[in-house]
Amino acid sequence: MHFLNISYFWTRKKSAMIDPFDDEYFMKRALNEAEQAFKDGEIPVGAVVVCRNQIIARAHNLTELLNDVTAHAEMQTITAAANLLGGKYLTNCTLYVTLEPCSMCAGALGWSQIDRIVYGASDPKRGFLKFAPDVLHPKTEILGGILQNECTLLLKRFFEARR
Ligand code: ZN
Repeated sequence: MHFLNISYFWTRKKSAMIDPFDDEYFMKRALNEAEQAFKDGEIPVGAVVVCRNQIIARAHNLTELLNDVTAHAEMQTITAAANLLGGKYLTNCTLYVTLEPCSMCAGALGWSQIDRIVYGASDPKRGFLKFAPDVLHPKTEILGGILQNECTLLLKRFFEARR
């Protein structure tokens, strides 16, 4: 795990100890979405958006089904969450996604002004931290490495099966 905002992490962690709805809990829900993508022959990345401990949007990668390279899990959940909230900004929301967002999704998340992004596996090849680390909204907190092994393993299994 690495933390770009350590003080925020520790305040979160304290509350997570008495909170059954912690980061791992919601990352597992995102992993369920990724597993569904796997079954559908999509690159297995899943995401959920959480607002006040409630999942308000869930989605997985749909690039094959929609023939759309922009149909990443994050893009689906940003749109769905904004529709549900009835406003374009995702303040007070956390996105859980099984893979570090790409530059496109990070840019969209920046526009959304989302409070917090939690991701599982790092993506050294396409992840935004390498290409566009400043693209998020300045207030957005980011935390990586939650259920990293599970998230990585699912992607590995997918690409090995396609070889
Ligand atoms: Zn993306």
